[in-house]
Amino acid sequence: MTNRFGPRFLLGMLAALVAAIAVFILSGDVPSALVALVGGIIAGLVTLGVDPSPAAPAEPEASGPPPARLGAVLEAIVEPVLVIAGGRVEEANGAARDVLGNHIIGQDVRLAIRHPAAAERLTAPAGEGTSDAINLVGLGTLDQRWELRVTDLPDGRRVAHLIDQTRSYAAERMRVDFVANASHELRTPLASILGFAETLADGAGDDPEMRDRFLKVMADEARRMQRLVEDLISLSRIEAEKYRLPDASVDLGDLVSEVHSELMDSADGRAADIVADIAANVPPVGGDRAQLSQALHNLIGNAMKYGRAGTPVTVKLSRDASNMVRLSVGDEGDGIPPEHIPRLTERFYRVDSGRSRALGGTGLGLAIVKHIVERHRGRLDIASQVGRGTVVTILLPAAVSSKSNATVTEGPKPA
Ligand code: ADP
Repeated sequence: MTNRFGPRFLLGMLAALVAAIAVFILSGDVPSALVALVGGIIAGLVTLGVDPSPAAPAEPEASGPPPARLGAVLEAIVEPVLVIAGGRVEEANGAARDVLGNHIIGQDVRLAIRHPAAAERLTAPAGEGTSDAINLVGLGTLDQRWELRVTDLPDGRRVAHLIDQTRSYAAERMRVDFVANASHELRTPLASILGFAETLADGAGDDPEMRDRFLKVMADEARRMQRLVEDLISLSRIEAEKYRLPDASVDLGDLVSEVHSELMDSADGRAADIVADIAANVPPVGGDRAQLSQALHNLIGNAMKYGRAGTPVTVKLSRDASNMVRLSVGDEGDGIPPEHIPRLTERFYRVDSGRSRALGGTGLGLAIVKHIVERHRGRLDIASQVGRGTVVTILLPAAVSSKSNATVTEGPKPA
């Protein structure tokens, strides 16, 4: 403040004083001289930019960067957004240009988004459009599905927002297909059981040989339904726990031996063909023992079913160079043509439905294995050669010690 009262200010004050004295000499009037003096001082202060009135609280000075431009804001949005003015595309972010093309800026919106319902909404007079979303197919790639939402701005412009619904649409379709497939799989044995029950009730039961044959078919079909229901329950349980990482320490060598002896105790003669090859230095994995046992049962079960009778079913357990535990089940069967391999883990997908059903398959075995492996943050690999056989491999991360956060290894312990 002191710097501002320099020589100019003093000169001004002197001029005000001289003016006041002059007024007094000329008029002899003290109040007029005082008015001249005070007026001169105020004029001096205003000239210097000093407000003589009681100080108002100062406005805080604007700080930080200037507000972002609309274009920059739109670019930051990952979904396609367009601003439409007078029926033309005024602005479009990168995501919108990726889907609709770079040429859309300035273009008539009906040409930019070639869809009748969208065009009608985007060109409707202000206030006449609905706020309902419009579903679009065929923008971008042919199978992409979009939801278009349009918002009217007070200045007459419109914001069109495209929301990608492709994944949720695919998930919904999978859910619907799954329910339809599961119902179909259950209905077939159910129809068979009902049919045989009615035939028995109609008198076929009087013939003991026929009755026994029918009862056996009914029992087989009921067991098929039971396997299917059990697999469906397993799938939904595993899916429900999808995001909960299993944390028990599981020794897969022990597990392979356990499953092997369970199968040897079963009535399946193929169990005698199982050859287990378990390496010595395999660390435990962090896992869910019951689920890993189920995965192993499913893989060995498939190898026994689809491998040629009398050929070995090889179960190998080893440690991978990248500290993963590798569990593989191989058979010498007809193998799987390569075009089927990517789809084998889909629910109810079978290479040969008749063969799978005849062998007691539900079509859910590999889907269950896939979900179990995913829950364990592992990898599933299916390699097959037509005419030679199939090897299905699971790779699971070795368990991590909670104390040191280091991988558990079986070696000499530090002293
Ligand atoms: P399924 O109950 O039918 O065996 P899976 O989900 O276990 O169902 O397997 C899906 C399909 O993959 C089977 O129907 C079969 O066609 C094929 N498959 C699975 N494992 C093998 C294998 N080891 N050898 C040949 N084909 C196999």
